[in-house]
Order: sequence, then C-alpha cells, then structure tokens
Amino acid sequence: MYQYWNPEMETLPRRELEAWQLRQLKTMVSYALRTPFYQDRLPKAGIKSEADIKSLEDLKQIPFTTKQDLRVGFPYGFLSIPKDEVIRLHASSGTTGTPTTIYFNREDIRRWTGFVARCIYGTGCNATDVFQNMITYGLFTGGLGFHAGAEEVGMLVIPSGVGNTTRQFKLMQDFGTTVLHATPSFLLHVESKMREEGVSRESIKLKRAFAGAEPYSEDTRRRIEELLHIDVYNSYGLSEMNGPGVAFECQGKDGLHIWEDGYIAEIVNPDTLEPARDGEIGELVLTILCREATPILRYRTRDLSAFYTEPCSCGRTHRRIHRITGRTDDMLIINGVNLFPSQIEEVIMSIKEVGNNYLIVIEKDGMLDRLTVKTEVGPDIFMDDTRPLNALREKIRRTLQSSITINPRVELHESGSLPVSEGKAKRVQDNRPRNV
Ligand code: AMP
Ligand code: ZN
Repeated sequence: MYQYWNPEMETLPRRELEAWQLRQLKTMVSYALRTPFYQDRLPKAGIKSEADIKSLEDLKQIPFTTKQDLRVGFPYGFLSIPKDEVIRLHASSGTTGTPTTIYFNREDIRRWTGFVARCIYGTGCNATDVFQNMITYGLFTGGLGFHAGAEEVGMLVIPSGVGNTTRQFKLMQDFGTTVLHATPSFLLHVESKMREEGVSRESIKLKRAFAGAEPYSEDTRRRIEELLHIDVYNSYGLSEMNGPGVAFECQGKDGLHIWEDGYIAEIVNPDTLEPARDGEIGELVLTILCREATPILRYRTRDLSAFYTEPCSCGRTHRRIHRITGRTDDMLIINGVNLFPSQIEEVIMSIKEVGNNYLIVIEKDGMLDRLTVKTEVGPDIFMDDTRPLNALREKIRRTLQSSITINPRVELHESGSLPVSEGKAKRVQDNRPRNV
C-alpha cells in the first residue's frame, strides 16, 4: 500500500542511517571550514578539521547557528565554494531588511529535488498526476522547490503561482488538476471562492493537496479535507534548510517524517538549550547534510515541535516530528509570508510625519490573513485635514508594501490616542484563531 521513492534510503536501518549521518556530517564540516563564518567559529570550539568529528555525539561541540549569524554573514559569509560553481540562490526575510541567502551548486539542487520528490511520491502521487503549484515563485523556496520535485516524479506541473482564484479554477478544469500545493489559508480561500463562483466539485478532479509554509491545526486540515473532498498532507521546511523537503507527512498522516539522511534533527529546551526528552516539546535545531555550497550546522529554527517516540506504520525508519505548534520568537506568518514586527517599525519610523506609537493588528478576512498597521501621526498634524492625511496614509502603505511585500491596511490615529501599555510595549495584536 505504501510507496517509497527511494526505498533503500527511506527504510535504512537506524544503525546504517546514523553511520550515513556521521559521514555526511564530516563532509559538511569540511565544507563549513571553507566559509568565513565557520572558519572563525569552529576552531574556537575545538573543531579544526573534519577529523575532529569522530561520532555523532561530537555534534554537540558545534555551537548553534542563528538567523542573526546568517544576517551578519550576508552576503557571502556562509558560501563554501567558488562563486562560478553556484547555480542558484534563494533568500528569506530577516528581522530587518537584510535577507538570509542560501546558495546551491548543481548537486545541491539535485539532492534537494530528490527530497521533495520523495515527499510527493510518498503521498501516493505518480506520473499520471497533474500538479498545480499555487504558491509564490521567486526567491521563496516553495515555488521552485516543489516545481522541481513534482517534475522529478514525472507529474504534469502547472506553475500557476498564487492568487487569482478564477484563473486557478480555469486551469484546474482545463487540465484536470489532481494535486495542489498552497498555504492552508489559501486552500480555504480557494474553497470559499469555489462556492462563491459556483464552481462545482464534479468539474474538478482534485485528489490531494500539500499544505505548508505556515502553522495550522489538525482541525484546519480536517476542514480543508472535508470541504474539498481531498487528502491534505503537511509540508514543513525553511529556506535555511533548502526549503520544502525537510519533513513531510506520509499516508499515515500522523506526524511528519524528517529526512534524516538529509538533516540531523535535535529538539532542545529553548531556555537551557539542553536536549528535550523524547516526546517533549522544544525548539527544533537542524543541521543540513545535503548541501555543499552553504553548509549550516545546528541551526536554531525557532520552531516548536516534538519527536514521536514510536516508529511509523509505513515502515520508514526516519523519525517523525509533531506539526509545528508555534515559534520561540516574534516572527509572524501572514498568508505564508514571514514578517518580524521590527521590519514594520523600521519602515514607519523612517517616515517623519509618523508619531511615536503604533500597533500591528492581524485578523482573518474570510479565509485569508489581513494586516492592519495603526500609527499615530505627529503632534503637528491635524486629523480634520483629510487631503494630507490620505496622502500620508498612501505613502505609509506604499512604503510598507515595497519593503515587506504584504499590502497592509493603514489607519492613522491622533497623536497620543493609541493605547500605551505600562510595561513592555505590546505592539502586536494577533486576533487569528490559535493553532494546536
Ligand atoms: P521560509 O524560510 O520563508 O520558508 O519560512 C520558514 C518558516 O515557515 C519555518 O521556520 C516555520 O516557522 C514556517 N513553516 C513552514 N512550514 C510550516 C508548516 N508546515 N507548519 C508550520 N510552520 C511552517
Ligand atoms: Zn510514515
């Protein structure tokens, strides 16, 4: 009943899997020692060559790497190979304007594609499927990552990108789409638009969808499945670890297999940084084993999860993690786009007419997320003078959109009128339902 893309690797006995990990870790350390960042960091921790890694236990000697490190290392601090050998880069937003950038050589892309193909095929897809990739293409890894993996499986790939539901329905009907990839909120949006536009379920052939890039609950999964009559599989990844293809649900739909021939996964207590007990929730820390051009060791993902303690009934030997329940930092995910409150602050505080206080509000607007930025205006601006206020509102909206790529609603408030908290300023009101 279960189908494996790479049967040997997916069912490799744990002992052999660990031996593989050790070999790959040594290779990664040797590449890391060619990057400016780790050339400085690793010898201080007593690791001067790959020979200093003798067992998987030695991983613990390697210091953690954070998003902040990646930002400081921008643009080439983590590059381990000559630039001519790099064939692609991807980037993700950072806490401020500086993105984090990941480079790939040809083999890195090939390996990444193999992991994504493994995820897709493991849900029962094959070359007869038609795959509509309703996710952002571009620097974000979800578009091209899934695109390549689905082609590798041999599916017919429709690179539809995100948005424009009417066009999406037309593509589904014209080409008989059977599989979708989207954020869970976009899938819900698609379903409500389908009803609104009178698109009948019988006119489309959907069987399954991959949903990821943002947290969602088991209830949301079930709701999408029931409304669209499809199977929904959870897809987890992050650009620092290539993107999609890090962890994925199999047909058991109970936890996500983390591909341990591509990644070493640890779960640590985010305060003490000590390993969490099996089954205990903590921060996921990942070491990439499958990318030479940008090796990243013990990356603190800030994502909260837990290991399953039991092996999966599908026969794969790779451990499963619980769906992500939250983050240890203040990163927000709005319709699949990552956003730190500090990015908004940086933009609005650079506009001189803006006053001192602001508030970020996130709500559900139908099935999608809506971002509203409320800002006070400076004390010398009068609220009854609408023309300049409209111009200011538009200026803030445009500046924010070009910086954060999300189109926010902007509300202007009189100087001193937004609530001031006594302790730590509470700048974010996230009114979306919680994920469990
Ligand atoms: P990016 O680097 O832009 O791909 O964003 C990666 C982040 O998106 C992760 O660190 C998670 O916080 C979030 N994310 C991705 N996939 C999922 C998922 N399936 N469930 C929950 N959060 C996710
Ligand atoms: Zn399984």
